[in-house]
Amino acid sequence: DTIGANLDRVAARVGAHEALVECATGRRFTYPELVAEVDACALGLDALGVANGDRVGIWAPNCAEWVFVQYGTAKLGAILVNINPAYRTHELAFVLKQAGISVLIAAPAFKTSDYRRMVDEVRDECPDLTTTLFLGDPEWDAMLAAGRAADPARLRQRATELDADDPVNIQYTSGTTGFPKGATLTHHNLLNNGFFVGEGCGYTEADRVCIPVPYYHCFGMGMGNLGATSHGATMVIPAPAFDPAATLRAVQDERCTSLYGVPTMFIAELGLPDFADYDLSSLRTGIMAGSPCPVEVMKRVVAEMGMTEVTICYGMTETSPVSTQTGADDSLDRRTATVGRVHPHLEIKIVDPVTGRVVPRGETGEFCTRGYSVMRGYWDEPEKTAEVLDAAGWMHTGDLATMDADGYVNIVGRIKDMVIRGGENVYPREVEEFLYTHPDVVDAQVIGVPDARYGEELMAWVRLRPGAEPLTAESLRAFCTGKLAHFKIPRYVKLVDSFPMTVTGKIRKVEMRETAVEELG
Ligand code: ATP
Ligand code: MG
Repeated sequence: DTIGANLDRVAARVGAHEALVECATGRRFTYPELVAEVDACALGLDALGVANGDRVGIWAPNCAEWVFVQYGTAKLGAILVNINPAYRTHELAFVLKQAGISVLIAAPAFKTSDYRRMVDEVRDECPDLTTTLFLGDPEWDAMLAAGRAADPARLRQRATELDADDPVNIQYTSGTTGFPKGATLTHHNLLNNGFFVGEGCGYTEADRVCIPVPYYHCFGMGMGNLGATSHGATMVIPAPAFDPAATLRAVQDERCTSLYGVPTMFIAELGLPDFADYDLSSLRTGIMAGSPCPVEVMKRVVAEMGMTEVTICYGMTETSPVSTQTGADDSLDRRTATVGRVHPHLEIKIVDPVTGRVVPRGETGEFCTRGYSVMRGYWDEPEKTAEVLDAAGWMHTGDLATMDADGYVNIVGRIKDMVIRGGENVYPREVEEFLYTHPDVVDAQVIGVPDARYGEELMAWVRLRPGAEPLTAESLRAFCTGKLAHFKIPRYVKLVDSFPMTVTGKIRKVEMRETAVEELG
């Protein structure tokens, strides 16, 4: 099925049921109203000359128009390119050129960024870019008006030119380990994965999914939007960008049944001074994903937010994105401490990164996956694609994992983040999990820093509970002594208020390492 056909089918089935709520403005759309906006957007872009396979960029924070454009471009067979809201001119020009974007849809501004000015600055460098529509401008309204006035038969004709195996999206990765890469994904990749993620959460029409994760990223547009619409559920956008208070208010006021977030978002919500004042009793499920999900945080999400069926997903943009997910029927231990089992219709294996051979159960190796979810490749970057996709169709994720006898997977960490101290492999994740058990620690991140004697030494960056006594390296080391092997105990401890982060809310250890190296001299 194509993404557009699926939306139409669901809309016909559920009728005038709420599809989308934008809390910042109070705008609400039922399924038929959503389809009307999506079709107006598709036909308006068609009237502008957007052809099958053309790239349409979207550069905006979360808003209802993002959703219209996502489904509208899919109906046209255009390829939507998501552009990071945090970009500045240099990066913007890079993506516009790299993806050959002809139409750009952008918010006029976001946070401290003047998008209008930045587009003006790069326009001359980007010959493919013929049209820019700023949301809310007369040109944007005129495009939609033209779409509303167009003959709907035109859209049915365009639909006959679509193939579910055609690319529909260039989704950029988070940029956690370097510059984001553009994964080229098809209707088939994305729609199926969205559907199975929704199945994993047990979605029905009665579900209301709170989506504070960015649409720029697969967590928002795939697991969020496609996960919801493929089940006739309701999408709730709490705010344009992540705001913990707005998120909990949206859950309360909209009676959301499901809440998404990367671990840092849940930590921020649980840490709100007035956390206990929100009525979160409607919550049943949700997804924590994107980075290692600390057991302590998962336990609090279950106990204090009432998300008794919360699931953990593991995946990456390149695989549409989810490969494994915990199930509501898994034990609490498994749901807090593993990323679950393989998703339907996919294959996974854990291999020795050097020999490529499958490792015995319980041993650490690189997580690889194959099946419908795997991307076509990185857009226009065959060499980078060949580094991760092998001839047999396996995606090599760069993540280290173990699998137990029952097929439950544990993510040990990224190959790139592994620390080798005096010949011992240390996985920062394990040390972080232990530091979280310290009563004053709210967030802990561990990196390796160069060391003349041991090759690398461990450094912990720690965020303390407000009002806690400052921890010294000595007291933290004392806390670890006798509980962690000596080579896993951080030599350095740095107290911080925040961590360098991607827009998707992931901690950029690359940047932490750069800072640490500078500071240590
Ligand atoms: P980039 O590829 O640009 O450096 P990124 O890998 O963070 O950034 P994404 O595609 O958003 O970009 O994230 C996928 C990665 O996130 C995975 O490869 C894995 O390292 C991490 N990840 C996702 N889910 C989990 C999880 N549940 N537990 C641990 N790590 C996870
Ligand atoms: Mg990645």
